[in-house]
Amino acid sequence: MKRFNELKVAKFGGSSLADAAQMKKCADIIKAERSRRFVVPSAPGKRFKEDTKVTDLLINCYNVSLAGGDTDAAFDAVAARYNAIVDDLRVDIDLAPEYALIRDALKKGTTLDYIASRGEYLNGRILADYIGYEFIDAADLIFFHGDGRFDATLTNNRASALLAEKENAVIPGFYGSMPDGSIKTFSRGGSDITGAIISRAVMADIYENWTDVSGFMMCDPRIVQSPRPIKIITYRELRELSYMGATVLHEESVFPVKLAGIPINIRNTNRPSDNGTLIVTSTEGYRTDDIITGIAGKKGFSVIRIEKDMMNGETGFAMRVLKVFSDLGLSFEHLPSGIDTMCVVINTESIRGREREILNSISRSVNPDNIELEGNLSLIAVVGRGMAGMPGTASRVFTALSREGINVRMIDQGSSELNIIIGVHDDDFEYAIRCIYDEFNNG
Ligand code: ASP
Repeated sequence: MKRFNELKVAKFGGSSLADAAQMKKCADIIKAERSRRFVVPSAPGKRFKEDTKVTDLLINCYNVSLAGGDTDAAFDAVAARYNAIVDDLRVDIDLAPEYALIRDALKKGTTLDYIASRGEYLNGRILADYIGYEFIDAADLIFFHGDGRFDATLTNNRASALLAEKENAVIPGFYGSMPDGSIKTFSRGGSDITGAIISRAVMADIYENWTDVSGFMMCDPRIVQSPRPIKIITYRELRELSYMGATVLHEESVFPVKLAGIPINIRNTNRPSDNGTLIVTSTEGYRTDDIITGIAGKKGFSVIRIEKDMMNGETGFAMRVLKVFSDLGLSFEHLPSGIDTMCVVINTESIRGREREILNSISRSVNPDNIELEGNLSLIAVVGRGMAGMPGTASRVFTALSREGINVRMIDQGSSELNIIIGVHDDDFEYAIRCIYDEFNNG
């Protein structure tokens, strides 16, 4: 077996493989570096806005079969997508026997998981043929327990043993097999998870996730026009941003690689020269001087403010307040507290109609001097490892907001100095994000 210095796993998303032209771009990317030895494809995604993903076409086939409809007619739409790719790429592969198996399974009443997984399976077969890599069925590498949970230990043992023997391979994303051999899929978008699992199994140097954007943006582009891309971000920062509503990767798809300390590189298939975003455990050894990594936020919170003189000297005060929440089966988001005040930030939806009950219970439990509930609170997280040991960052954030007349209703700075969480009125949400962004980017 050949050994190369660097080993990369390249996962390509549905838009990267939506048709033959896109698949060619992926092949060029794979061929550009010998280190890209293991490739994980999704099923063909949308070619244009109104198009349907192949996975959705397959789910439709399943629904047609449930309803006793014409499954052959429904499957024709799937076959047409693959036939067009095969013809345009001029690959020498006969998918007719595969189609026959799927059509037959649909008639006999197969499972949704099996049908949905065929999108990745067929795409993997075509891609492997096109780039001249070996095809390995994910059913032989990725395993689930009988109760449907992913079996990380068995998968890692088998996948690392099998792939150690291989020079290269295409492994379809999104599915694996159950102990009885039947097919099981991950949740939607699950090819990301497969890519991470394979990366861990082969101990890749990098897990490349090729998609249609050049990485993550510093904030939501619907709020800030053309925000800067994030060049490098730590797993911890990513967690903070995704918790605060930034749409990033599947939590499950981050876990295996984070555990193994493997960086993820989000790249753009349509702009392969862009570096994208690199997600790392630690930025040691990388040059970065950004103070703020990203800004994210969510609307729809309420804050319960509890005041009591000398609260700090009262043993068990916070515990009694929190017990009220756990007794009522409510989970809270944040607990910003001062010397004589304690605030509980909670999702407004979760307390709707129960406001009186909560305030009364807290009053009975800790007998506060004052207690009030305020709604329409938005939380904004300003996340950045660069804030630690950088005096004045918080003051820049607050000065920027006060300059624009935005009232800050709550502040919570984590002890890690990794983020500052600011509460503003829902009406100020978007404007506040723009002000903070401008403060650190257009200064
Ligand atoms: N094809 C599957 C889906 O559409 C999985 C994936 O693309 O990651 O959800």
